[in-house]
Amino acid sequence: MLEPAIRRDPERLDPPLGEVDPEVAEALEQETERQETNLVLIPSENYASRAVRTATGSIFANKYAEGYGRARYYNGCRWSIRVEDLAIERAKALFGAEHANVQVHSGSQANMAAYYALLEPGDTVLAMDLAHGGHLTHGEKINFSGRTYRFVAYGVSRETETIDYDRVSELAREHHPRMIVAGASAYPRTIDFARFRGVADEVGAYLLADVSHIAGLIAGGCHPSPVPYADIVTSTTHKTLRGPRGAIVLCRAAHAKKIDKAVFPGVQSGPFMNVIAAKAVALREASSEAFRDYARRVVENARVLAEGLASLGLRLVSGGTDNHLMLVDLTSIGVTGRDAADALEESGIVVNKNTIPFETKGPQVASGIRPGTPAVTSRGMGTEEMKRIAAWMGNVLSAPGSPEVRMRVREEVAALCREFPVCRQGSPV
Ligand SMILES: *Cc1c(COP(=O)(O)O)cnc(C)c1O
Repeated sequence: MLEPAIRRDPERLDPPLGEVDPEVAEALEQETERQETNLVLIPSENYASRAVRTATGSIFANKYAEGYGRARYYNGCRWSIRVEDLAIERAKALFGAEHANVQVHSGSQANMAAYYALLEPGDTVLAMDLAHGGHLTHGEKINFSGRTYRFVAYGVSRETETIDYDRVSELAREHHPRMIVAGASAYPRTIDFARFRGVADEVGAYLLADVSHIAGLIAGGCHPSPVPYADIVTSTTHKTLRGPRGAIVLCRAAHAKKIDKAVFPGVQSGPFMNVIAAKAVALREASSEAFRDYARRVVENARVLAEGLASLGLRLVSGGTDNHLMLVDLTSIGVTGRDAADALEESGIVVNKNTIPFETKGPQVASGIRPGTPAVTSRGMGTEEMKRIAAWMGNVLSAPGSPEVRMRVREEVAALCREFPVCRQGSPV
């Protein structure tokens, strides 16, 4: 037992991480160093602000608040209700939605809740093929989605490598899906949600828009919003939206009760109040003029990075990008996505390998990479830096076996990173 005098000493009662767990503390320190000294071009990653991270690491983590509104199963929820109300109101205002659920833990659970709310097991759903840019939760056989519902896949056309809307319409008339899913994880072009609505109406299907990747662009006015067209909109909060790891579900008032019941008690129990507080902060940040400017710069940087890579002779799937990411087909230079991503990581440039439409290799090898600009733009980088990054990528990819090239690029990358620090206060939290 602790002595009473010691009990009152918070440093003794509740010592800092470094003392409690030096191993995790070291990993955190090293990860901070890694994030500071590498360029993140993974389009699903970003740097949440200090304010967002403060809320995420806050004592709201201690609270159970199952339920909605004033109807909670636990007492002591006054301030939990306050932050959840703030998050809901901000989400509705930012996206112009009639209803928002901010309790959903992740993008995958948001989709699970959307299916749970509107479908029965075995129902037919039309969604984008994973190999053409779709997501695991859009019907992959090894995912709950593919096991529970009957998914039919649409994709991009061979010629344009953009979504083949005529084919979507044909498949819809052939299979009569109960729901159509619009949204992707590796699609560099604008998605025409109005067109998807048209197809859904033709066959009496629900339309689910999964904007996990592009939510920040929509909030910032750089991509058309699906909210006027979709029955349900799901999104992560940690990608272009730059919030905590988590998600939101937006929907029409008519589906509000079903969605809330699907999230809790359908697929979740206790909400993460610390994450919900952080979602409120992120949604406030995303409604600022500065964020609109951020979204605009993300897209501009992606265009310049894409042009830089194309000018080096690299082939871009669909010929370019309208959003925050691009798919680079490395087939013609004889490098696999895996080898490219490994060589780039050793050079301080972190990207992910990615399959390309009509892929011939497995997903662990893949023919492409999927660079994106949300994270480097959050660091404050602009078009001049994108040109330098494209040139470095060209150097590494044209000499993937050269340790000298990797070493030289790594040093130049580190110098650029020092000019654009991630944690301005020198502290990870
Ligand atoms: C990232 C992503 C998800 C899943 O988000 P998690 O929070 O990782 O579960 C779902 N859908 C799309 C389109 C995504 O890009």
